[in-house]
Amino acid sequence: MKLLRKKIEDEGIVLSDGVLKVDSFLNHQIDPALMKEIGLEFANRFKDAGITKIVTIESSGIAPAVMTGLELGVKVIFARKRKSLTLTDQLLVSSVYSFTKQEENTIAVSSQFLNETDRVLIIDDFLANGEAAKGLIEIVEKSGAYVAGIGIVIEKSFQKGAEYLKESGYKLESLARIHSLKEGKVTFVEELEVVKA
Ligand code: 5GP
Repeated sequence: MKLLRKKIEDEGIVLSDGVLKVDSFLNHQIDPALMKEIGLEFANRFKDAGITKIVTIESSGIAPAVMTGLELGVKVIFARKRKSLTLTDQLLVSSVYSFTKQEENTIAVSSQFLNETDRVLIIDDFLANGEAAKGLIEIVEKSGAYVAGIGIVIEKSFQKGAEYLKESGYKLESLARIHSLKEGKVTFVEELEVVKA
């Protein structure tokens, strides 16, 4: 997705060989016009997958997930990381090791929002080692629902999550794929593919 790549080039800050900061449009301040385009793109890529629900994780997955839900006409559920006093229902839980915070979190979704008739699209902001995606898959599958696809805004293809998800048979669609963050520079997989072609 060209618009997203341009935004990463213009505003992304490489914090280290493994971490990209995109606080100006995705992780802190949110660019609604870009989110709208992201929603359209995910909806287009998954339009034939029979999606009935979207599942994401708070907080940075919510904006792209909601815009996609709007386009596909389905509800969006976000897994919670903190135990809330109002979350009194039967819970589907999983344990996720956070790449950025380097700590283990229990994530939870109320079982009332998912069941075996659902075909779920999982959406998240970043894919690194796949821990968040694995946790969300576990929650969806515990409910009896089917994981019909995984949509990622920014995939860091040099980390192991993308390969793991594809090898496990999930349909993965990433809107920007980063080949490397070495020497403070973002290199996209798509650019390398153009050079090779
Ligand atoms: P994973 O669970 O795939 O190892 O990491 C994905 C999660 O960690 C995402 O939900 C995202 O919040 C966070 N994350 C991973 N890598 C990055 C990164 O380079 N930049 C930012 N801003 N978040 C990241």
